[in-house]
Amino acid sequence: MTYVITQNCCNDASCVAVCPVNCIHPTPDEPGYKTAEMLYIDPDVCIDCGACLDACPVSAIEPDFDLPSDLLPYIDLNAQYYRHPTHLGYPQVPAKAGRPSREWPGSEQLRVAIVGSGPAASYAAEELLSQRGLTVHVDMFERLTAPWGLVRFGVAPDHQETKATADDFARTARRKNFRLFLDVEVGKTLTHDDLAARYHAVIYAVGAMGDRQLGIPGEDLPGSHSATEFVAWYNGHPDYADRTFDLSGERAVVIGNGNVALDVARVLLSDVDDLRRTDIADHALEQLAASRIREVVVVGRRGPAQAAFTTPELLGLAGTTGLDIQVAPDEVSIDEATRQWSVGREESMALYKARMIAELGSATPTASRRASLRFLLSPTEIIGDERVEGVRFMRNSQTFEDGAVVAHAAERAEELSCGLVLRSVGYRGAAMPGLPFDESRAVLPNVGGRVVQAVGSHEPVNGVYATGWIKRGPSGVIGTNKQCAKETVDALLEDWVNGSLFVSAPDRDVIDLIPDHLDLAGWNAIDDHERRTGRPLSRPRVKLVKRAEMLRVAAAAATAAAAAAAGSNA
Ligand SMILES: Cc1cc2nc3c(=O)[nH]c(=O)nc-3n(C[C@H](O)[C@H](O)[C@H](O)COP(=O)(O)OP(=O)(O)OC[C@H]3O[C@@H](n4cnc5c(N)ncnc54)[C@H](O)[C@@H]3O)c2cc1C
Ligand code: SF4
Ligand code: SF4
Repeated sequence: MTYVITQNCCNDASCVAVCPVNCIHPTPDEPGYKTAEMLYIDPDVCIDCGACLDACPVSAIEPDFDLPSDLLPYIDLNAQYYRHPTHLGYPQVPAKAGRPSREWPGSEQLRVAIVGSGPAASYAAEELLSQRGLTVHVDMFERLTAPWGLVRFGVAPDHQETKATADDFARTARRKNFRLFLDVEVGKTLTHDDLAARYHAVIYAVGAMGDRQLGIPGEDLPGSHSATEFVAWYNGHPDYADRTFDLSGERAVVIGNGNVALDVARVLLSDVDDLRRTDIADHALEQLAASRIREVVVVGRRGPAQAAFTTPELLGLAGTTGLDIQVAPDEVSIDEATRQWSVGREESMALYKARMIAELGSATPTASRRASLRFLLSPTEIIGDERVEGVRFMRNSQTFEDGAVVAHAAERAEELSCGLVLRSVGYRGAAMPGLPFDESRAVLPNVGGRVVQAVGSHEPVNGVYATGWIKRGPSGVIGTNKQCAKETVDALLEDWVNGSLFVSAPDRDVIDLIPDHLDLAGWNAIDDHERRTGRPLSRPRVKLVKRAEMLRVAAAAATAAAAAAAGSNA
């Protein structure tokens, strides 16, 4: 018997720290960690102690004998990682955990503002508030009336176990010396200078909600949308609630083949009765119930071994009830460039994924809906007179150059007719007023989390830090932000110890500038309302979408609490 890591792994590495035989890899200090699709348990070393199972925030770990049939492929997937010779030979003793011991300067209390409330912000808050021997006050500012960033507004509604990471963030929010200020946009409701005057340090964790453009003709035709919009719409993001998507055609095309592309394909093709059991926004459920889409074509620029989606996401798509995966056989065979690259890498996870794509696509179709995974195609134009009617592609071929596989446009063109195009080619961060910005990478320029004066400079902007997607760009899963936040907080604490952080107006409470904010009690009332409304419908929650409605629920709860308190005092 062994324990097995499965679909929901978000790479936060909580399991690594508790494993008595160090058999979960890659660990955060190993080179492959930053790009790993998930973590893997070595079946030959695991002693079945079960400690990792309790540590996992998203219930991703199971004993092999207890796996449901759709998770059985994970037994081999975990084992596959250790077939690669460079993944063996690790020491079977756990690395020593624990914080570096620091001498804190004097008794002054550290005051930190965190902008944003997604995973990066929440992990940074936890890291700060759990320091021993130092009192840290953390105030977190979020522009929306709901916290937790993409955990609420990005992670797909049928990935409820992944959304359980928010329970950890809620635990952090209950810590002493923590305050949450919702409905407060930094750069609009408050300025950076307002924060800089009141806090020793400001950490920006504002994510990357913009989308990248394809830069091809027809991109702005009605019926062509970014996947960012579609995801935010079905997840009930208030800024996108009023969007409409034409789901009346039989085929949709998703351009780009990362995990977000597979998420949107799955949501478009899922049985609506399955979606009814999730926390998908009601307005989306209504439109999806009337959808006539039967095929979603997901198109990637490169070959199957270079597919941007992860193997767990592929297995999740394959396990969706009522859909087949289809591939074009000539596109999923290993091409010459990949063959050259694979010399000495025969057991790589990339080749394993390519073999799995071919295998899943070769099954006999049985369902009425299908996800077609296409490769080696680059879009050149979105076509249509008044609205989207199709997409024109150029076929690519690949060569092996300087140790890498490179895609080039070849001659042959191809057209796919469709009624909906979703462009899923990446997210993009936005500049913050008053701070430097790296336009080409769309991040706050930083060195190890310290925001610097300009791209290429090592001169820090005193007291300003970044973490998460706005620090390193839009890549990595939820748990990746934990290590990222730790690096930033380590830099901040080093500056604190060195005496380089100051506050000019320590007695001016920010609360006076934002009397109308929504606080943690208000959010808890909304959260409770959503969960209660969901219960009789067997749904995790029914999301409130409109800001005014959320504020009304919070205000009603505050009035009821005040009345109850007055009653008990009478
Ligand atoms: C569609 C999608 C699906 C995903 N699914 C998964 C998954 O299943 N599993 C997984 O592990 N990872 C998943 N990820 C990745 C994961 O969501 C990210 O790694 C993570 O959310 C990035 O964290 P962040 O804190 O940097 O940004 P975000 O989560 O985007 O948080 C940023 C927060 O800052 C707020 N903000 C922005 N500007 C301001 C301002 N001026 N003032 C105040 N607040 C502001 C935003 O409203 C937001 O709440 C997914 C990502 C996407 C896009
Ligand atoms: S069951 Fe125990 S030995 Fe096996 S991976 Fe988990 S923590 Fe490690
Ligand atoms: S989510 Fe975290 S604790 Fe769970 S398996 Fe993945 S890395 Fe380990």
